[in-house]
Amino acid sequence: MSDKDVTVIYGVLNERTEHEKRAALTPDIVSRLTKSGIQCLMESGAGLDAHFLDSDYEKAGARIASRDEIITIADVLAFISRPTSEVVSSLRAGTWIVGAMNSFTDEGYINILKTSGVTAVAMERLPRQLSSAQSMDEMTSQNSITGYKAVLKAADAYTSILPMMTTAAGTIRPAKVLVLGAGIAGLQAIGTAKRFGAVVTGYDVRPAAQSEVESLGAKFLDLNIDLGKDQGDGGYARELSDEEKVLQQAAVDQKASEFDIIITTAQVPGRKPPVLLTAKGIACLKRGAVVVDCAASEFGGNVEGSKPREVIRTDNGVTILGLPDLASDVSTTASQQISRNLADTVLHFMREKDGQIKLTVDFDDEIDKAMIVAYSQENVNENKE
Ligand code: NAD
Repeated sequence: MSDKDVTVIYGVLNERTEHEKRAALTPDIVSRLTKSGIQCLMESGAGLDAHFLDSDYEKAGARIASRDEIITIADVLAFISRPTSEVVSSLRAGTWIVGAMNSFTDEGYINILKTSGVTAVAMERLPRQLSSAQSMDEMTSQNSITGYKAVLKAADAYTSILPMMTTAAGTIRPAKVLVLGAGIAGLQAIGTAKRFGAVVTGYDVRPAAQSEVESLGAKFLDLNIDLGKDQGDGGYARELSDEEKVLQQAAVDQKASEFDIIITTAQVPGRKPPVLLTAKGIACLKRGAVVVDCAASEFGGNVEGSKPREVIRTDNGVTILGLPDLASDVSTTASQQISRNLADTVLHFMREKDGQIKLTVDFDDEIDKAMIVAYSQENVNENKE
């Protein structure tokens, strides 16, 4: 960025709810943005659940402002989630919003954005494979935290211990942990469970995951089913056909009884999470087994019968935890990470336009092309040389 005038106001609203403890901006990132000439406005109390006080933000250079003022004067609003349609309708044309827009599944909302005159950046559409996009990747930062916390939750609900322990009263065998879905969250769960001393096995539908699982010192679960060579695009899993799903579920159900703890993290971008473990498999688990479904949602998760934010105890003594908010539970670290991801995303769009550094869309840029889901013509750089 050059030393031309920067006149961007970066606004953050209080998104705290019973299940959302994160803040979209943390004081360390306020300093980073301020150094780039950006003025930060925070709604009072936005950082409280992540242990950041209004005074911490002020010390870092932000100004505490009312929700109405932020909505009225911010040039860009950064969100953990996304603004309600009501907030969108209050924004002036040309305002930028950055957050998780659910653009793969919520066409109705995206249509509202398109007619509202805002420019919207969908974090879920980041082309993560680009090296220039790494520091913007909130899916990676938040999923890593999810995988770590899933193991802590499982260990807490498990009534035995994870590591092998030799005591005067005998040797305690280590827990056997199975992690289904070995993407960012799954690999972090595998590493964390290994550090706890458990005997860990991982599984993913993508064959490339096998070497990653094994590089962490875990075993790869071979389900002995042929899912063909087509494993999806760009390193992401494809949705399995109905026949493949049945084959996979039967194989997982059959192997599941060997394990004490099962952690599921499988997702297919833009689709309902795949069911990997059915009621049949759960019925065969040992008494005391713990299942953590990180994909649990109101549309279902990876475990048949799991419910988001509910603990289910089955007749055969199995505990099923539906835990969709694990990153939010680690609110301080998760806020620091996502705050950096959001700020770097906004900084990506700061470009010279009309002799000033402004938030500008450049549709020749790969990141812009992928992430902009609605735009105001006034934000587009048409006079590029
Ligand atoms: P995700 O959250 O979309 O899914 C989690 C995991 O679930 C994935 O590994 C996926 O293969 C798996 N899965 C889906 N359906 C399954 C099924 N039926 N059975 C078993 N497993 C199933 O994915 P993610 O954690 O974001 O990672 C997805 C891919 O993106 C990985 O290859 C990862 O290495 C890659 N990635 C690349 C970059 C980068 O290039 N910088 C950054 C992040 C992730």
